[in-house]
Amino acid sequence: MSRCALDTPPFHPDDAGPSFHFKRSSSDPFDGPFTSLPPMAYPLASLPHQQHYRDITPPLDDFDVIKPVSGHAPIYAGSIDLQLRKVLADIDVDECEANGENAFFVANLAEIYRQHLRWMRALPRVVPFYAVKCNPDPYVLRLLAAMGTGFDCASNGEIQAVLNLGVSPSRIIYANPCKAASFVRHAAAHNVGLTTFDNVDELYKMKKFHPGCKLVVRILTDDSKSACQLGLKFGAPLDSVPRLLEKAKELDLDVVGVSFHVGSGCYDADAFRDAVHRARVAFDMGRDAGFTFDFLDVGGGFGHDNFESVAEVLGPAIDRYFPDADFASGGKAVPGKPNGLRIIAEPGRYYVHSAFVLATNIIAARRGEEAEEAPSSQEVAAVEGARDKPEVMYYQNDGLYASFNCVIFDHVTVYPKVLTLDRKYVYRPEIPSPGIVAPGADADEAERKAWSLQPCSIWGPTCDSIDCVRELAHLPRGLEVGDWLVYENMGAYTICAASTFNGLRRSEVRYTVGGGEDGAVVRDLLLQ
Ligand SMILES: *Cc1c(COP(=O)(O)O)cnc(C)c1O
Repeated sequence: MSRCALDTPPFHPDDAGPSFHFKRSSSDPFDGPFTSLPPMAYPLASLPHQQHYRDITPPLDDFDVIKPVSGHAPIYAGSIDLQLRKVLADIDVDECEANGENAFFVANLAEIYRQHLRWMRALPRVVPFYAVKCNPDPYVLRLLAAMGTGFDCASNGEIQAVLNLGVSPSRIIYANPCKAASFVRHAAAHNVGLTTFDNVDELYKMKKFHPGCKLVVRILTDDSKSACQLGLKFGAPLDSVPRLLEKAKELDLDVVGVSFHVGSGCYDADAFRDAVHRARVAFDMGRDAGFTFDFLDVGGGFGHDNFESVAEVLGPAIDRYFPDADFASGGKAVPGKPNGLRIIAEPGRYYVHSAFVLATNIIAARRGEEAEEAPSSQEVAAVEGARDKPEVMYYQNDGLYASFNCVIFDHVTVYPKVLTLDRKYVYRPEIPSPGIVAPGADADEAERKAWSLQPCSIWGPTCDSIDCVRELAHLPRGLEVGDWLVYENMGAYTICAASTFNGLRRSEVRYTVGGGEDGAVVRDLLLQ
């Protein structure tokens, strides 16, 4: 008898998300009409979930399971490592039914909570509006909603998913400068009253279908220091902004401020400084066109690893180009000045990158001459030198057409770690790839066995040869068909764009609130 791999129902990103409602606290800075928001809403102290919960909530233990939404996936407690062990303990690859050994994600929701605290510490003036497209997982959205973030939605479906959580439409920015008319009508009907634009045709559309909407002009910035550039498609060059604003004035539309996006995966903090400068220029163009701008949206592009260094540049750039003297703070009206400056950002990747890991099963292998004779791409030969040719080709059950679409669309390199070796669990999360103890390390009997690394390539499960996850990696000899690999940092731009090409299922998610104190806080936030 085989036991089922996962007891979570399939999650499909096209689902509008579960329709549950959480209680908004009365101190919710976003509750109420958009215009009445306190200008510097969101001091760290207003986060309701820290000390308070630590006093009243019982600690978690590893056997806790919560079900915030009946009929939806359960959420476990304990570390990712523990979840991986538990899931694998329930899978017998030699006996299981079809799909029983499918690849699966483990999501540690406490990571998202910690990322939020980190954000509040480094950029307390900047209210995060999570970019839903990055990972629209229903529990991710629910946790963010409970923590009080806003949401950047780019389509009707994303707006609906967020509204279904009971989030006020005032916490949504429809941050797509090129919207379908029917989506604009839907936004109007649901009181989503803030959107971006970067062209004249969009202004006519807004005039026709949502004339009361507050508009934000998205300007073009330098995105050359980013993994994914967006400027080819979006953003008005500064010299076109006066004409756009003039047209908006002529149409009697309400432009309230400026947005930009430095590109996703931005690795140069100076791009933010430069963009804030340009935004200031656009603010002055707004004044010249007769508008009173009071809204700055610094977009996305924040990374997990470089966040503090970006914040160290962005925060002071905002202070420099948008000095308090120019924007009355504290809600006081100053004649001729905007009544306080509201600043938001649209982080996507930053929040979810580290929260998800993906475990894959090695379903097949070609070894030795069989593998060496396989034509290797010129790229491998050129970059790695012909000497280091893959000696083994591993085929795993998730690939470029599914969760690893990030290799193509998000331009990332993924790093496999070994979960099981010869069917024994060997993973050590704290050790870099391959994630197991090195030869000669001081360890027990199993670990003293010398792991010699072997050049290999890693392929996905579809019948297309483009489906190559790594053309050259190094994994220990002794990996067998049936063994498991794990990829960390798989939360951003992965599941959301996965297809079911070749009749393969999407990888499902096993959720945990993590262990320890953060886990207890996250549990209570989800149960609110
Ligand atoms: C994709 C996107 C984001 C999120 O970008 P990250 O790099 O994931 O932070 C934010 N805003 C807009 C308009 C986007 O298109």
